[in-house]
Amino acid sequence: VTARIIDGRAIARSIEEEVRAEIERLRFRPGLTAIRVGSDPASEIYVRNKAKKAHQLGLRGDERILPDSITERDLLDEVQRLNEDADIDGILVQLPLPKHIDSRKIIDAVDPAKDVDGFHPMNVGRLHLGREVLAPCTPAGCVRLIESTGVPIEGKHAVIVGRSDIVGKPMAALLLQRNATVTVAHSRTPDLAAVVKQGDIVVAAVGKPRLIQAEMLKRGAVVIDVGINRIPENNRSVLVGDVDFGHAREVAGWITPVPGGVGPMTIAMLMRNTLTAAMWRRR
Ligand code: NDP
Repeated sequence: VTARIIDGRAIARSIEEEVRAEIERLRFRPGLTAIRVGSDPASEIYVRNKAKKAHQLGLRGDERILPDSITERDLLDEVQRLNEDADIDGILVQLPLPKHIDSRKIIDAVDPAKDVDGFHPMNVGRLHLGREVLAPCTPAGCVRLIESTGVPIEGKHAVIVGRSDIVGKPMAALLLQRNATVTVAHSRTPDLAAVVKQGDIVVAAVGKPRLIQAEMLKRGAVVIDVGINRIPENNRSVLVGDVDFGHAREVAGWITPVPGGVGPMTIAMLMRNTLTAAMWRRR
C-alpha cells in the first residue's frame, strides 16, 4: 500500500476560507504589516505572497520595504511606530535581516500582542507553558496537517528532526501539549535512522534534500516534510523536501508532498494569527 497524501493546499484553502468568512462578519478590517529589509529575492516573494493573501481574505496587508543600509536604531524605531499604531494588528519582520542588524533585538522589540510569527520570547515562553498564544505559523500548520489525517496524536511517539527556534522547538512544544511522546533529533544525534524508526509521527525540518530515506521510517508513519530545498536534477532545478518522497510514500501511512504540503499552511496560519491577534487586542 502506498501512503495517503496530505493535501496541504486544500487544507490551507479551507482555513483561509474560514478566516475570510470571519473577517467578513467583523466591523473592522484587521491589518497586517510586513517589514522587509533589503532585496533578498526569496524574501521578496514571501512577503509579496503574504500581502497578496491578506488582501484576498479581506485583511489590510501592507508591505514596508526598507533599504539594506538602514541602521538597527532606525529599524527599531520603525517597529516602535507600528507597535503604537492602533490600526495594525500584526507585525511581521521577514528574516533573514542584514548582518549588521541583530535580529534578536528586532524580534524582542515587536509588541507580543502583534507578534503574528510567534517569535517574541514572551510568546515562546507562553507556548512552552501551554498558555493562550500566537503560535509560530509553520509548526502550527504542521499540527493541522497531522490532525487532518484523523490519526490521534495522544500517546504517539513523535520524532522531530531539527531543533530550530522557528520550526523544531515550537513543534516539540505543540506535540507535547497534545500528549505525544516527543523526541527531537539534530545534527549531533548519533544513528538518526534508529531514532526516526521509532516515530509514529515524523516531522522533518532540516534543510537537507532527501535526508530522510524510506528505510528509516516505521511502516504506516505520518510523515510531515517541512524542508524546502532547491536542487539541480536532470539539468533543471527542482524543489524537494527533507524526505525522499518517491520511496517514503511506499512505507509511510500518510505523507506531505513538497511543494503543496507544509508551505501553503504557513501562510494560512499567518492569516489566522493576524485575525486572532486582532480579536484579542479588542476584547
Ligand atoms: P535551520 O537550519 O535553522 O535548522 C536545521 C536543523 O536541522 C538544525 O537543528 C540542525 O541541527 C538540524 N540538522 C542539520 N543537519 C542535520 C542532519 N544531518 N541530521 C539531523 N539533523 C540535522 O532550519 P529551519 O528549521 O529554519 O528550516 C528547516 C527546513 O525547513 C529548511 O529547508 C527550510 O527552508 C524549511 N522551512 C520551510 C518552511 C515552510 O513554510 N514550509 C518554513 C520554515 C522553514 P543543529 O541544531 O545541531 O545544527
